[in-house]
Amino acid sequence: MLLVKKFGGSSVADPERIIRVASRVKKAVERGDQVVVVVSAMGDTTDDLIGLALRLTPCPSAREMDMLLSTGEQVSIALVSMALHQLGCGAVSMTGPQAGITTDGVYAKAQITGINPERMQRELGNGNVVVGAGFQGISASADITTLGRGGSDTTAVAVAAALKADLCEIYTDVDGVYTADPRVVPDVRKLEQISHDEMLELASLGAVVLHPRAVELAKLYGVPMVVRSSFNENPGTLIKEVDKLEQAAVVTGIAHDTNVAKIGLFDVQDEPGIASRIFLALAAENINVDMIIQGATRGGRNDIAFTTSRDDLSKALEVIHGLQDVVGAEGVCHAEDLAKVSIVGAGMVSFPGVAAEMFRALAEEGINIEMISTSEIKVSCVVDRKDVERAVQSLHARFELHEV
Ligand code: ADP
Ligand code: ASP
Ligand code: MG
Repeated sequence: MLLVKKFGGSSVADPERIIRVASRVKKAVERGDQVVVVVSAMGDTTDDLIGLALRLTPCPSAREMDMLLSTGEQVSIALVSMALHQLGCGAVSMTGPQAGITTDGVYAKAQITGINPERMQRELGNGNVVVGAGFQGISASADITTLGRGGSDTTAVAVAAALKADLCEIYTDVDGVYTADPRVVPDVRKLEQISHDEMLELASLGAVVLHPRAVELAKLYGVPMVVRSSFNENPGTLIKEVDKLEQAAVVTGIAHDTNVAKIGLFDVQDEPGIASRIFLALAAENINVDMIIQGATRGGRNDIAFTTSRDDLSKALEVIHGLQDVVGAEGVCHAEDLAKVSIVGAGMVSFPGVAAEMFRALAEEGINIEMISTSEIKVSCVVDRKDVERAVQSLHARFELHEV
């Protein structure tokens, strides 16, 4: 079998853990598998590198930031390869560019545009383990880019797709995908399997256990994928196409995201083209907008509010202040102490009243809802950040997601 095994930061946080990873990889090689390992930066290295840059300047150049952050993964690939050598296992480390991973030029949230797998295939053919750096690639202008926080998962799935691997295993510090973040809810239940669509929603709505783009690519290229622990042999969670009849649960899981900011524009002119001006200008700066609310019109004026990630807030405010006169807004406000809580489940489309039940559970906790958005398989509410953990816990109980 050809396996891609991705080990996250906590799985390679120190030399002992790196040796454990190497032993696990060696076992697969001894069973006769070909293995590509994809690794993240050790422990909190990426956060530490960001902190280092911010000690020099509050607004580091995006290009230099990606150059800096990509070094974290480069340390890991060399150390994992050395550990494999020590165990008598042939291994070759490769940066993203060496592994043939090309991306667009959007620093900090680049998308993979292609993978030339020749060099990886050559090394696998020579009997070596390939140890590739997650989270990075090279743009058409030969600049190093990174794929966004958590992006090593996406590297792993993209490499698995390019090599037509039999399985992509995401090894992390929990046993699989749970009904909510185990750090927030004590009695979470592990899911044996979950559909791509539900996993994509959970990941996009804040469940950091998988990078959303990784799930998207797994679905697009039909890459079989499992999330499991690097600390034990438990079976983990399969991400796969799930038959409609198997999707009995109304709510499969709860996600939360504390990286939420809101911007509001008051008394904007109510005429065609205003919303397109605002959101095209934000898109031109690569700012992702999440929820959008436009209020009722009063005397040719209305209010528009939207959410974005807190990381993008200052850039978004700059764009909005630049447009304030053009769109005739009387005022602009913003808030950054917000969070989003979401329920996700493919079954909810057939059951009326799920959203109402969510609102009632939050109301009973005295939690105020600032914004709401829904789709066929999720309902999200923006709440005060201080309330979000309580919101997740109460919804987990209300929808009876605990271990039975
Ligand atoms: P890695 O460094 O291995 O990529 P991450 O920290 O990115 O690990 O992801 C694993 C973490 O995801 C877990 O420790 C857990 O706290 C968090 N998490 C959030 N939501 C979920 C969920 N629904 N199921 C499992 N883990 C979750
Ligand atoms: N090291 C990067 C991060 O911390 C990428 C990853 O871990 O997936 O976000
Ligand atoms: Mg991760």
